[in-house]
Amino acid sequence: MESSVVEKPESGKAASSFAKSLLLGEIHEEMVFPWPEPDAEEQIKVRELCARARAIGDSIDHRRVEEDRWIGDDRIRELGDAGLCGLYVDEKYGGQGLSQTGYARVFETFAQIDGTLSIILGVHQSIGYKGIVLFGTEEQKERFLPDLATGRKLAGFALTEPEAGSDAYHLRSRAVLQPDGSWVLNGEKRYIGNGSKGDVFTAFARAEVNGEDRHIALILEKGMDGFEVGERYDTMGLRGNDLRRLYFNDVRVPPENVLGEPGDGFRIAMSILNNGRIGLGTGSVGAAKKLLDLTIDHTKERRQFGQSLAEFELVQEKIGWMVTYLFGLESMAYLTCGLVDQGVEDYSLESAICKVSGTEFLWYAANRALQLRGGEGYMRTEPYEKIMRDIRIFPIFEGANDVMRAFIALSAMKPVGERLSGLGEIGLNDPIRSIGVLADYAAGRVKREVRPERISMAHPELSKHADAVGDQVKELTGATEALIRRHKKEVTMRQLAQKRLADAVADVYAQVAVLSRVSSIFENDGVEPSGQERYIADTFCDRAARRVRGNLNALEHNDDERMTAIAKLASKRGAYGYALFED
Ligand SMILES: Cc1cc2nc3c(=O)[nH]c(=O)nc-3n(C[C@H](O)[C@H](O)[C@H](O)COP(=O)(O)OP(=O)(O)OC[C@H]3O[C@@H](n4cnc5c(N)ncnc54)[C@H](O)[C@@H]3O)c2cc1C
Repeated sequence: MESSVVEKPESGKAASSFAKSLLLGEIHEEMVFPWPEPDAEEQIKVRELCARARAIGDSIDHRRVEEDRWIGDDRIRELGDAGLCGLYVDEKYGGQGLSQTGYARVFETFAQIDGTLSIILGVHQSIGYKGIVLFGTEEQKERFLPDLATGRKLAGFALTEPEAGSDAYHLRSRAVLQPDGSWVLNGEKRYIGNGSKGDVFTAFARAEVNGEDRHIALILEKGMDGFEVGERYDTMGLRGNDLRRLYFNDVRVPPENVLGEPGDGFRIAMSILNNGRIGLGTGSVGAAKKLLDLTIDHTKERRQFGQSLAEFELVQEKIGWMVTYLFGLESMAYLTCGLVDQGVEDYSLESAICKVSGTEFLWYAANRALQLRGGEGYMRTEPYEKIMRDIRIFPIFEGANDVMRAFIALSAMKPVGERLSGLGEIGLNDPIRSIGVLADYAAGRVKREVRPERISMAHPELSKHADAVGDQVKELTGATEALIRRHKKEVTMRQLAQKRLADAVADVYAQVAVLSRVSSIFENDGVEPSGQERYIADTFCDRAARRVRGNLNALEHNDDERMTAIAKLASKRGAYGYALFED
C-alpha cells in the first residue's frame, strides 16, 4: 500500500514532524518518549534567572507602567544586566546560552509577573532578534547580538501591514535591488511592538529575485534615512508595549543587512513565528499558574452560606478543570520545547497547537478565576481586569487562532493528500499553495518511516490510555482520508471540518505529552507515590479522548450547512433582521 520512499531526515530522526505523522497513522513514539528531562546544570542557571526576574518584577509598579505607557529605559538596562534580554543567545555574544526548554521556563516566570513585561521581552527575544540568531551570518551575529543580548539595544519584528495581517504572504512593502547591491525599501507597517523604543527591526517586504516576485527579510536600524516611526496605538491592554506604525520611505538597506537569502523572506518570517508561538504556549502556562494560585487562595478564604467557597462542587469543578488542563498544556508546551532541543526539523504544527490551546485555555481560565472572585474580581484594585485586557490579544496575534487551526489541519492533511495522490486519486499541493499565509511554508515533504499505530513506550500502568491514543490515531487517519476523498481540492475551503481535525490532532498530541510526562514520573518516583499525577492523567486523557471522538463524529454529523447559510443570509440582510420590536 505504501508508495512513498523512506527518507531519513538530517536530524537522524525517522520522521521530520511528530504531529504531521499522526494523520498518516504513524506514532513516532521515539520522538516523544522518554520525557525530555531538563538538563540539571542548566536548571541551576534557570532558577537563578527566574529569581532575578522575580526580584526585578516585584520592584516594578505594573499599574504605573500602564499609566506611563512604558516600562522605563533604565528597567530594560536592569533586565539586560540581569541576563534576561539574551536568554538563548550564545554566551560568546553575551547571552545566557539557554536551551529552548530553559528559555521557556524563564519566560513562564515573566508571564507570571506581568503581561506587558513578558510582551516587551517576548517581542525583543522571541521574534525581534530571533531571525538573526536563526539565519544571521557570523558577521551579523557579532554586530548585533552583544548589544541586544545585554539590553543595550531593543529589537522588534515588523511583518504586519494595513493590507496584510493574517494574510502576511501578501505584503505591499517592497524592496528593490540597486546596482551597488543595496536594497531600497518602501512601505508601511502597523501594530509593531517596541516601535519607537526598538533599535533593530527584522522587517519583511516583497522583492523581485531572479525575475520572481518573492519576499526578503531585512535588518533595519534606527536612524536609517527614510525609516520613520509613526503614531502610537491606544491599546486595550499591554498598555506599556510601545505599539506603533512604521514608515519606510526610500530606506537604503545595505547588502550586509539582508537576513538569509533574498527570496527566502517568507520562510524566515514563518520560522521565527513558529518558534515565537511556543513562547505564547509556555507564557500561557505561567499566567495560568498565577490565576490558579489566586483562585485557590481566595476560594479557601472566602466563606458564603456558612462554608468556604472551595467546598462547593461547582467551585471545585472550575479549579479541577484549571489544574487538569494546566497539567496538559504544560506537558504539551515542554514536550514541544524538548523536540526543538532534540533538533527535530519541523515543529510548526506542535508550536501552533501550543499557541492555540494555550491562549484559549488562558482566556477561559482568567474568566473562571474572575468569576470565583465575585464582584471584587471586577474591581480595578484586583489584578483580573488587567490580566484579561492584557491576554485578549494572545489568540489574535502571532497567527490568529482561526488561521492557525486551518494551518494545523491543512499541513497535517497534506502528507495524507500526497499519499492518496500517490495512489492516483488526488493531489493537495496546489490548493494548499494557493492559500496565502500557509503557502510555501506548508510545502515540503514530510520525511517519514512507516511506524505502527500504537504506543509501546508508555508506562504499563498507563496502557489503557496509550491503547486509546492508538485507536484515535487510526480513526483520525480514516477520517482525514474520507474527508479528502469527499471534498477533494475543496477541502481547503472546508474550515469547519479543518477546525475539528485541528482540535482532534491537538487533543491527541496533548494526551501523548501527558502520557510521556507521567510515564517518566512513574519511573522516577514509583507508581504508588504518584497517585495525584495518575488521577490528573486519567482525567485529562479520558476527557481529551471524548473530545477527539466528538470532533471526528461531528465531521459526519453536523449542522454546518445551516450555520453557514444563516451567516450568508445575515451578510445579505446586513443586520440581525429578526427583531421582535423594530426601532
Ligand atoms: C497588541 C498587538 C501587538 C502586535 N505586535 C506585532 C508585532 O510586534 N509585529 C507584527 O508584525 N505584528 C504585530 N501585531 C499584528 C498582529 O499579528 C495582527 O493583528 C494579526 O496577525 C491579525 O491580523 P489583522 O489584525 O490584520 O486581522 P485580520 O487578518 O483582518 O483578521 C481578523 C480576524 O479574521 C479572522 N480570519 C482572518 N483570516 C481568516 C481565515 N483565513 N480563516 C478564518 N478566519 C480568518 C480571524 O478571526 C482574525 O482574528 C500586533 C497586534 C496587536 C494588536
